[in-house]
Amino acid sequence: SAKEKGKNNYQFFTQDLNQKVVRKYQVESALRKAIAKDEFKFHYQPQVDLQTEKLVGLEALLRWNPSFGPVSPVEFIPIAEETGLILPIGEWVLEEACRQIQEWKECGKLGVRVSVNVSARQFRDSQFNRKVEALLKKYRIDASQLEIEITESVMMNIEESSKVIRQLRELGLKIAIDDFGAGYSSLTVIKNIEIDTLKIDKSLIDDMLNNSRNLSILKAIISVGKGLDTLVVVEGIEKEEQVELLKGFGVIGQGYFYSRPMPPAKLESDWIEAGR
Ligand code: C2E
Ligand code: MG
Ligand code: MG
Ligand code: MG
Repeated sequence: SAKEKGKNNYQFFTQDLNQKVVRKYQVESALRKAIAKDEFKFHYQPQVDLQTEKLVGLEALLRWNPSFGPVSPVEFIPIAEETGLILPIGEWVLEEACRQIQEWKECGKLGVRVSVNVSARQFRDSQFNRKVEALLKKYRIDASQLEIEITESVMMNIEESSKVIRQLRELGLKIAIDDFGAGYSSLTVIKNIEIDTLKIDKSLIDDMLNNSRNLSILKAIISVGKGLDTLVVVEGIEKEEQVELLKGFGVIGQGYFYSRPMPPAKLESDWIEAGR
């Protein structure tokens, strides 16, 4: 009967919900111990000049491997943000990026810009700037080698955020706006915040080959970035045809076409020592 069916659906629904709750609890508990257990590391993804095909930057992407198997940042970052664990995790992220920049600099291996992702919540920490400044001193690195990637979620607290961003730029850091064009308030962000790099979201690149409207929008966004004198990074490039269409626009590409994010040792052998 319909009633029986409804009951079954309800059971399936609660079962599914239970699994989600259990999983979230498991992830959250493990996340609390992840730093102490040294379970985080970075993979680095190259950013490549479309014209010269040279390495011009790297994005540091967090990887987490707890005992029950690897968890994607797509799953654990929102939980970290919700629980406030993003604060200690974010500090680990900044410190590890600075440490790696120094290591590469000292062995003469690399001097390119390294970008890290910073959540809006970290900007609400009134000590954020001072912590960044202390790290730059501790590792004796050039501030301009470190870039902070933010998304339009910083707009939720624009007054405070724009102050923090101004101070970071005064320290010499670079600011990138990530996932540009994916949300609703991308233009509001670049109207209110001075930035160094515009990272165009993968969703805009995905359909540009079979949809001329999308290609027009993409080109318009690139010229907005150029007009503001920012670097323009096109995220999620997967195909040769995409590169061909975008060559000549003076943009930087990041995507599986060039390379997946990879452990530092592989980056060193495949990119740095290979002279790319
Ligand atoms: P994001 O900052 O936009 O990073 C780009 C994501 O796209 C990465 O996923 C990268 O692996 C993926 N990607 C790059 N090229 C391609 C491509 O050609 N095709 C496809 N399908 N994907 C591509 P990942 O590493 O899973 O990270 C997901 C998101 O998690 C990041 O998006 C960022 O928002 C967040 N995240 C990662 N690490 C950190 C971190 O240290 N701190 C914070 N707050 N967030 C982080
Ligand atoms: Mg990013
Ligand atoms: Mg992005
Ligand atoms: Mg993203």
